[in-house]
Amino acid sequence: MKKWVYTFDEVAEAEALVGDWDSVRGLLGGKGANLADMTRLGVPVPPGFTVTTEACNAYTDAGLTVPEGMWDQVRSALDHVEEKTGKKFGDPANPLLLSCRSGAKFSMPGMMDTVLDIGLNHDVAESLAEISGDAHFAYDSYRRLIQMYGSVVLGNADEPYEEILHEFRAKTGVATDAELPTDALKDIVERFLEITPRFPADPDEQLKLAVEAVFKSWSGKRAVDYRNASNIAHDLGTAVNVQTMVFGNLGENCLTGVAMSRHGATGENHIEGDYLFNAQGEDVVAGIRATIPVGQMATDMPKAFEELQAISDQLELHYRDMQDMEFTVENGKLWLLQTRDGKRTAQASVRIAVEMAEEGLISKEEAVMRVTPDQIDFFLHPQFSIESRKEARAAGDLLAEGLNVSPGAAVGKVAFDADTAVAWAEAGEKVMLVRPETKPDDVHGMLAAEGIVTSRGGRTSHAALVARQFGKPAVVGIAELEIDLDGRTMAVEDRVIAEGEYISIEGTSGEVFVGQLPTVVPDIKDKWLSTLLGWADEFRRLRVLANADYPADANRAKEYGAEGIGLCRTEHMFFEAERLPIVQKMILAATPEDRQVQLDILRPMQREDFRGLFEAMSGMPVIIRMIDPPLHEFLPGHDELQGQLQDLEDATSRDGDEIKEVERKLGRVDDLHEENPMLGFRGVRLGILMPEIPRMQARAIIAAACDAKENGFDPKPEIMIPLSIHVKELERVKAIVVEAAEEIMKDRGITVEYQVGTMVETPRAALTAGPLAREAEFFSFGTNDLTQTTFAISRDDAEKSFLIDYVEEGILPVNPFQTLDRLGVGGLIKIAVEGGRKQRPGMEIGICGEHGGDPESVALCHEFGLDYVSCSPFRVPVARLAAAHAAINDKA
Ligand code: PEP
Ligand code: MG
Repeated sequence: MKKWVYTFDEVAEAEALVGDWDSVRGLLGGKGANLADMTRLGVPVPPGFTVTTEACNAYTDAGLTVPEGMWDQVRSALDHVEEKTGKKFGDPANPLLLSCRSGAKFSMPGMMDTVLDIGLNHDVAESLAEISGDAHFAYDSYRRLIQMYGSVVLGNADEPYEEILHEFRAKTGVATDAELPTDALKDIVERFLEITPRFPADPDEQLKLAVEAVFKSWSGKRAVDYRNASNIAHDLGTAVNVQTMVFGNLGENCLTGVAMSRHGATGENHIEGDYLFNAQGEDVVAGIRATIPVGQMATDMPKAFEELQAISDQLELHYRDMQDMEFTVENGKLWLLQTRDGKRTAQASVRIAVEMAEEGLISKEEAVMRVTPDQIDFFLHPQFSIESRKEARAAGDLLAEGLNVSPGAAVGKVAFDADTAVAWAEAGEKVMLVRPETKPDDVHGMLAAEGIVTSRGGRTSHAALVARQFGKPAVVGIAELEIDLDGRTMAVEDRVIAEGEYISIEGTSGEVFVGQLPTVVPDIKDKWLSTLLGWADEFRRLRVLANADYPADANRAKEYGAEGIGLCRTEHMFFEAERLPIVQKMILAATPEDRQVQLDILRPMQREDFRGLFEAMSGMPVIIRMIDPPLHEFLPGHDELQGQLQDLEDATSRDGDEIKEVERKLGRVDDLHEENPMLGFRGVRLGILMPEIPRMQARAIIAAACDAKENGFDPKPEIMIPLSIHVKELERVKAIVVEAAEEIMKDRGITVEYQVGTMVETPRAALTAGPLAREAEFFSFGTNDLTQTTFAISRDDAEKSFLIDYVEEGILPVNPFQTLDRLGVGGLIKIAVEGGRKQRPGMEIGICGEHGGDPESVALCHEFGLDYVSCSPFRVPVARLAAAHAAINDKA
């Protein structure tokens, strides 16, 4: 008979059965595996057992029928628990109460169901009151069971139960449920039973239905949504953990809490969390009562705190990662109810990984692998500047301050429920989800929002955990914030904000401002991040260069760790207001002589920019691409010129020459008009027909390199020819470049080493890489164009028209402009690398399309044997880590 149930003491058996710990986690779920593991380690864990994920899957597959033999196995596991505790389930003389909780392989906090206090009925409650000498506790537990059972197992709404509680709080004049007198609790039990007629008095029946309810909750909507958002497979199933209840609500010598072994938001190495005296577990995470910071336990209950601290250290050492623990103190005795690897912010993730490696707990390599490239991105996220926050404060726009649970700045329109947040976000609005507290049902709204604000809840509240995991800035627990869900307003004292108005939040400080604060991009000077990226640099093989067009960008890129410039798009240097008209005149010039006049104006400007780049990147390669202007971006539109012509013709004093000139330009713009300009007269083609342009640029580049050298720098220019399709293009343009360079160097009496190479951006270039490499001294894949030309889809239009649908429909696995297409574009890259290196062994080959900053594409570049990736300055740190991951995975 298949084994569906394991007691916590049987983990060794489970391990022997399935082989390794990962499979144990698959079988028993993360929580079940860790409870058994803690039992083995000697940590005080209330006795219990786990029903396997396989049982859950069998139940689901058989159309909600429990597999044969499962209940018998549950019974014998229960016998074992009864023996260990010396109590009996359902026996009023000495009752054992149980909890029943879900636990999948990967933690899904709050997404599935839990039932506590199973085993209570009229007789058991009465005798428990007597035995414990605490009738209040017995009836409080009983009413909790009926309520949880009603909502979780029977699917009843919460409101009728809450209304009854509210009625009795009002009647007895108390503020919280914990203060309700015992008689009131007895009446509440009766009232609860009236509205829960299907509540079974038989404890066995209670347990069976609770286990089945947990099985079913795996397929519930909120669990499915969460798995979709977290990329967790839907066929894993959940285990069910049935465990002896211990009570944090037996009086003032009892408490319950949650703690992380290190700080989940900052990564600081000290225990962090919250607890509540005289409470049950759910009370802490529900965020309804104000919790006490765990550090206070050192004073309140020093012995239990000391033990908690020691267990926290022991568990970290054992699991080699930061732990998130649930604990209860029952009459002074500490129990651990759960431990799991703790969720953390990106900042905490980096600091914890680095410090654990420094402490010798993990290796540097592991530390590097523990941080995902996407997490690095958070360091580069917008923030409000110190000044803008100061100004907002001075203007009286600081609405409130709450707990700073998830960092980063966010601005959005207030939405008071998840569906509104989703609807507005889908309409393109930036939204801030504001709730009294969040529940798992709100997750879709949290994902759609820029940030999250709640008036209740602590650091470990649902809102905080989920926000951190998804990297959403969040401020929670703003006690003074009154939210009126019916009136659709929020207020702090007399400052009222209606739904739809803007607020700004700073998740790092916990501030909430009225209105929209401007955001700035932070410095990535974090010392742990620098250490981690330094380690990543030791492992990676790919070099990381930056796409930068101006000296300021080059300097920023260098600060982020770029080892040179992989692409300077020289046409971007002409986008400035005073330069664009000159470029337009240059392209539209009637004769080569006229064109030269404009080029002579542009040359010193380019030379100055190039010098700045060489000086910023002294000793490192600076790859400057010859101008590649998609002409439609650079020239005035037909209609604009037509309008000018009309104005001139309508003017009272008509200027014939001017009219003629505009007419000529209009004719030229019409000549140059293309239906599909991305595939038209651009790139090297322009330089072939207008050789004055590459000549001017080569002169400017070499002259700038001479200037930089004269200034004491070490310029390493590489001149790159875009969009080639034939080696003859390279022959021609390279000859122009070499002639100009020789001339300048001779004039100046200075020698600089330079290379001339090409971009590979067309299938033909990739397929004829061998011949191209006769002329080209290096290759750089322009994967934006190479994707466009390989797929024959426009990079300007495809995403707008059909590409996103293609991805959603599953026709393409990813957007190929975002993540490199392994088979198609990747296939051409492989051919080109092989062809190029065969012709010119050891030639430098890299990539400079947007893919250079995409972690998955970086891994492919590593696999294809490229020398470097080049990406925007802000992606440089991400690419450094991604390249290290690729190298480490390659070794494994
Ligand atoms: C490319 O095509 O990948 C590239 C880097 O050039 P651009 O984006 O300027 O066309
Ligand atoms: Mg290109």
